[in-house]
Amino acid sequence: MLIERNKLDSIVMRYHGIANYGERLIERIRPMSLKDLNDPKAVLEAIAEYDQLGQEGFLKRYGFGKARTFALIHGGRSYDSKAIVGAAHGYQFGTPLSSKQFSGGLATVVPKLEELGFTVVALALDEQTASIPEEVPDSVWEGARRSVTVNRYERSPAARAACIEHHGSACLICGFDFAQTYGADFQGFIHVHHIVPISKIGEQYEVDPINDLIPVCPNCHAALHYGGKEQSPDDIKALLQLPRST
Ligand SMILES: [Zn+2]
Ligand SMILES: [Zn+2]
Repeated sequence: MLIERNKLDSIVMRYHGIANYGERLIERIRPMSLKDLNDPKAVLEAIAEYDQLGQEGFLKRYGFGKARTFALIHGGRSYDSKAIVGAAHGYQFGTPLSSKQFSGGLATVVPKLEELGFTVVALALDEQTASIPEEVPDSVWEGARRSVTVNRYERSPAARAACIEHHGSACLICGFDFAQTYGADFQGFIHVHHIVPISKIGEQYEVDPINDLIPVCPNCHAALHYGGKEQSPDDIKALLQLPRST
């Protein structure tokens, strides 16, 4: 028996309709997951949107709170890691992940971002770091009209972030790495030291986070500033090589 051309078309169309509906249903049933995210470009797009909207606008748009534990570091700036991942999922798959759909932190967002080639630092520890170097005098250069503080460069979160993004978070003098010794919670924890001689800092000076700052552990940092002197990283490195009498 011949089926009319029109009827055949309508059957085919209906079949396609059912198939499409089935696909949509499967998409809806299968929980969207952080694991699916595998395109670094989607993360970069989320970062660009964050830059455009600013932190508050971005968090509001995607319904995330401020990151308290881990920050994504990119281009010397710091980003709320979980919100970026949620938004990046939207760039890759069309639907952003909401805050409730996945947990942030060390087991999820951090390895995912690192797997995609990004740098993540522990935020709470990073903020604590910034208040540690008591040995550093606050005002070390007095100009005619204003004083510049080296401490300020070591404490600037943006400069610190760019320094760590470039140099990593192991001490450049002795190689000490907090995460290796104290565990993954300490990922990214390190001091930064400002290596430009104070005499070279004038009023027009702007810190270059890659050439003027280096990551150092608190011990080496204390040694660099010991006695209020300016010692170079090489000086301290040389001290570490010296044989000690026991
Ligand atoms: Zn060190
Ligand atoms: Zn320092």
